[in-house]
Amino acid sequence: MTGEELLRSRGLRVTRPRLAVLEVLAGGGHLEVEEITQRVRRRLDSVSTQAIYDVLGALSRAGLSRRIEPAGSPARYEARVGDNHHHVVCRGCGEIADVDCAVGSAPCLDPVAAYGFEVDEAEVTYWGLCPNCQLRRAADR
Ligand SMILES: [Zn+2]
Ligand SMILES: [Zn+2]
Ligand SMILES: [Zn+2]
Repeated sequence: MTGEELLRSRGLRVTRPRLAVLEVLAGGGHLEVEEITQRVRRRLDSVSTQAIYDVLGALSRAGLSRRIEPAGSPARYEARVGDNHHHVVCRGCGEIADVDCAVGSAPCLDPVAAYGFEVDEAEVTYWGLCPNCQLRRAADR
């Protein structure tokens, strides 16, 4: 689907900033607002940071982008949505990678007790050291 088709399929108006943000996110990765703004500005002459926040909010509410916010890191956005994948985050440098969910649909973990809550998601974040940080640590020894 093209960006225009994606937006229309969710009942969103097609605008140049929305298309540009979708394009940037489609490049993959988990991007901070700052990075998204810089890349969008290479495509569009002028767009404010606030406009980017507005676009990201609309895309996230429409299920076209996903917002993640690992502890100690600014919010990041990605285009990979709808598969309930999880993330592994490096404690050293903050690098983030996708980890497929073994179950695939939320919530993939059943709480031992839910206290009457209707649980619809389990947020799973794996923490550790990425390969680069492991090498750096080994070199420091
Ligand atoms: Zn690292
Ligand atoms: Zn991800
Ligand atoms: Zn899972």
